[in-house]
Amino acid sequence: MENNLRILIIEDDKYILNFISLALKTSGFTFDTAKNGIEGMSLFYSNKPDIILLDLGLPDVDGIEIIKSIRLMSDVPILVVSARGQENEKISALDHGADDYITKPFHMGELMARIRVVQRKLKRSLQPDNVEIFKMDCLTIDYERRMVFVDDHEVHLTPMEYKLLLLLVANKGKVLTHNYILKEIWGYGETGDSTSIRVFMANLRRKIEKDKAAPRFILTEVGVGYRFANE
Ligand code: CA
Repeated sequence: MENNLRILIIEDDKYILNFISLALKTSGFTFDTAKNGIEGMSLFYSNKPDIILLDLGLPDVDGIEIIKSIRLMSDVPILVVSARGQENEKISALDHGADDYITKPFHMGELMARIRVVQRKLKRSLQPDNVEIFKMDCLTIDYERRMVFVDDHEVHLTPMEYKLLLLLVANKGKVLTHNYILKEIWGYGETGDSTSIRVFMANLRRKIEKDKAAPRFILTEVGVGYRFANE
């Protein structure tokens, strides 16, 4: 099997590192390994991986801090490798932008299945086919350059805010539930907490809406979710 994805594994447990390496090698992936957070961040900068497998319990840096640092710059899929019984840690990792998690000990098949899910997500771009620019009133999204403008002034969105805006625009006119948004943006739903959505939505509105009290673009469907204005 041929794969052109580059994977970064950040894991201090030698046994698990060897296990994952073997699994990835068997499936034809290119990968780099780091035994601590500093090394991991350095490889993230230098090799620009397509997927990151991250252990949260590292000897030098808290895995959550690594997720936070990466999310400031990139929306590269992060698959957290977590110990059993660390539910709070998993939720915190997802809240900070991890895409999914896998619980130790796991089977090779399960790891590969999770990587395939992330691979599919990478392929399924939110960008509509053959559309390079989205424009509605004062709002412009340049998909090609990943830039957003209000009245020709560039607004700086974090990767998560940008992802959220693209999801809303791709579904404009449709009500998106909290769970749907959680699932699409953070990769989980049902058990998710909608507080993080409210925070992200408030920040996004602050950046793109002229009148926060009467939003032009992002409309609230009370108790249900949000809808991007149809026209
Ligand atoms: Ca560890």
